[in-house]
Amino acid sequence: ITVSALRETAAGERRVAITPEVAKKLRGKGLRILLEHGAGAPAGFPDASYAEVEFAGAEQVIGQADLLACVLPPDEDVLARLRAGCIVLGQLRPHGAAARIDALAARQLTAFSLELLPRTTRAQAMDVLSSQAAVAGYRAMLIAAENAPKFFPMLTTAAGTIRPSRVLVIGAGVAGLQAIATARRLGAQIEGYDVRPETREQVESLGAKFLELGVSAAGSGGYARELTAEERAAQQQALADHLKVFDVVVSTAAVPGRPAPKILTKAMVEGMKPGALIVDLAAESGGNCELTRPGERVEHGDVLILGPLNLAAGAPLHASEMYARNIYNFAELLIRDGALAPDFNDELVAKSCLVRNGEILFKS
Ligand code: NAD
Repeated sequence: ITVSALRETAAGERRVAITPEVAKKLRGKGLRILLEHGAGAPAGFPDASYAEVEFAGAEQVIGQADLLACVLPPDEDVLARLRAGCIVLGQLRPHGAAARIDALAARQLTAFSLELLPRTTRAQAMDVLSSQAAVAGYRAMLIAAENAPKFFPMLTTAAGTIRPSRVLVIGAGVAGLQAIATARRLGAQIEGYDVRPETREQVESLGAKFLELGVSAAGSGGYARELTAEERAAQQQALADHLKVFDVVVSTAAVPGRPAPKILTKAMVEGMKPGALIVDLAAESGGNCELTRPGERVEHGDVLILGPLNLAAGAPLHASEMYARNIYNFAELLIRDGALAPDFNDELVAKSCLVRNGEILFKS
């Protein structure tokens, strides 16, 4: 059995799906590892850092892989050249990607998209959403600190006392909590907000204050649900009053498979302090702020709005280490006695499967 990874081709993508550590563990299961030349180099893993791994050009890797691990979805022309029966495993971004799913099916492939794993205790070790969101949350707060015109910590100096920055984190999921933890390490005064009531305790346990806006919207599977129009109006009204005090807002609110909820309106931004900064981590799915332009820097009056994309790729070494471990832990469910034999009675296998031997199982 040949397990492979290609050098990722998306713009700015530096992560790799198989690290030297994980290659070694896969070798220990009796598998052959074949990687594209330089696959790990952008993440800080040159070819020489992999032991007992074969390297080849992309064509050979595509033609020989039995299991292709990826960070982002391979191009459709790559999918079209994989061997029939090959398993594709990674973040396959299935929502709104009918053409990609058709390409997987047309080639009689089997594909597992780890974003679809249920958020159960057993799935935690394979949860790419969590591992990569933690990196993104950390990076978002560093970007905020770097671009803010103020210090984050309180400083007592001979030139007088500097008050700490006031930071609000909207959305206290995995990314938001890591953003809060990072802002705390930098010494800011932090508040966190979410529509899931259970996040209050999590926010407070990080030493931040929970911002109570009186809107609760717990959905299924531990996720938030979309707000109704009335709830959204109530949320915006309550938030508008509070926003005036913050120097930095990092927003991370998301509802799986849906565009990011619009929480910060133009009028709310116009009510913020001069020099205030918004880092909209939800830019990838449209943004939590009406004024966000994905991947761009928007100056609206005296407020700066950043919509950085693919933040996890910005810390590629640790992001890859965690991602590759997620891949390995899931791959263990697919491998039996050195052969690829996914057990579809296992809910983690069944629920993350997009396409099984050419049959489309994913319902968007
Ligand atoms: P996510 O990326 O889907 O969303 C980010 C946050 O935005 C969530 O906390 C959500 O409640 C919040 N949000 C959505 N709409 C909002 C709105 N209108 N206003 C304010 N906030 C809004 O979430 P995630 O980080 O992937 O985590 C989702 C859940 O899964 C959490 O409960 C998390 O603790 C849980 N989880 C469980 C496991 C596990 O046990 N295996 C692992 C990771 C995460």
